[in-house]
Amino acid sequence: MSQYDVVICGGGVIGGSVAYALSRNQDLKIALVDYKNPGNASRASAGGLWAMGESTGLGCGVILFKTLSKQLQEGADVSQAEGMKPHIMPKPFFDLAMMSNAMYPALNQELLEKHGVDMRFEKTGLKFVLFDQYDRIYAEHIAAAVPDRQQHIRWLDRDTLLSEEPNISREAIGAMEFDTDHQINPYRLNDAYVEAARQNGVDLYLNTKITGIERQGNRVTAVQTSRGKLNCGMIINAGGAWAEQISLWATGMQMPVFPVKGQVLVSEKLPKILNGCITTSDCYIAQKDNGEILIGSTTEERGYDTSTDLTLLKQLAQGATKSIPQLRDMNIKRCWAGLRPGSPDELPILGPMPGVEGYMNACGHFRTGMLTSAITGKLLNELVRGESTSVDISPFLYDRFLNERGKWWVNITSKPACNLGEVC
Ligand SMILES: Cc1cc2nc3c(=O)[nH]c(=O)nc-3n(C[C@H](O)[C@H](O)[C@H](O)COP(=O)(O)OP(=O)(O)OC[C@H]3O[C@@H](n4cnc5c(N)ncnc54)[C@H](O)[C@@H]3O)c2cc1C
Repeated sequence: MSQYDVVICGGGVIGGSVAYALSRNQDLKIALVDYKNPGNASRASAGGLWAMGESTGLGCGVILFKTLSKQLQEGADVSQAEGMKPHIMPKPFFDLAMMSNAMYPALNQELLEKHGVDMRFEKTGLKFVLFDQYDRIYAEHIAAAVPDRQQHIRWLDRDTLLSEEPNISREAIGAMEFDTDHQINPYRLNDAYVEAARQNGVDLYLNTKITGIERQGNRVTAVQTSRGKLNCGMIINAGGAWAEQISLWATGMQMPVFPVKGQVLVSEKLPKILNGCITTSDCYIAQKDNGEILIGSTTEERGYDTSTDLTLLKQLAQGATKSIPQLRDMNIKRCWAGLRPGSPDELPILGPMPGVEGYMNACGHFRTGMLTSAITGKLLNELVRGESTSVDISPFLYDRFLNERGKWWVNITSKPACNLGEVC
């Protein structure tokens, strides 16, 4: 029977990052347990490190704009577009995302030099490509909503956009770019964390199911797995969209984390046709390090369903060909669906659980788990060691869902802002 200081439940980017951060000092005995459930989010991801984009409602949040824009085009006048408000994430999340984003250049270098693993970090910027006056108004609202981040916003007129991205449609009228927003390869980031953790002495239990968690009184004592029992001083719940089951076993408490399906399509490898990442009101488009063009993504609540749907994929493809006409000739290599770990307020759930010892949350990262994995690892390392955290984590504690009687005050069935079943 094995005895560990910490058992990490879930080996996606979040569990991987936590394992790596905890193992840097090589002073704790750590196990990471993962069974790749179909729909594991880290392998489904686009790999965008879009801190400004995702915090200001671009990427997935752009559906909000798209719906409003469509309504306006169907009858309202431009002055009504003034009422369109981008979905700006709360300041604590914005700060967290920016801080995490800033960690990647050094983290990339460290993982390469010390561990020989490569997340394929690329400085790309993220361009919101504008096609009409509504796009422009929406972009102006975004810029106005983040007055303290103007230094990261660059406006490109049509000629500049086309000189920097010659394959963008001649129909585009310009772009707003966030110069901080970059990309990695999501599989490689996940594998890099896990391999570096292994090199630091973490025991990997891969293809291993967690089947239960033992407690004595209010303290977690062991993790039961398909490969036997792992005794431990602490567990970390990094179970992605399956985090609630782990919480129920470990704490007896429900966890408001639920699967939010995202469908993506990927082209065959193409010569370089994009210099940076692109987002529009239809979709986002990123050319990955191997030349494939990734087009994403839907936001749907379909439980643990990971099937793909031609109608929605077609909408994504149409959005992509509108932006880059030459994609009409591309061959689709693969499409898939992944399950984001959603939370009611779209914020991750980090840190301890009231009344339970030996348990920490690292879940609910919704659509930005790639981006926020670096800071999550750092924070969980500080929490496990009882150190003060580099960020005030109170906005991310589970307690935010509880009233003074310890009961949930939020409706846990309330969902993120994106319209479901639509392309965003
Ligand atoms: C289509 C799509 C596009 C995305 N694009 C981006 C993006 O561009 N940028 C970005 O930052 N984020 C993006 N995301 C979000 C990001 O992928 C997630 O936030 C992140 O991967 C969550 O990581 P995780 O480790 O919490 O979950 P996961 O990667 O799902 O990992 C959890 C793991 O725990 C395992 N597990 C659960 N229960 C058990 C059990 N009982 N026993 C053993 N193992 C268990 C699961 O099988 C899984 O392997 C995207 C997500 C999707 C679906």
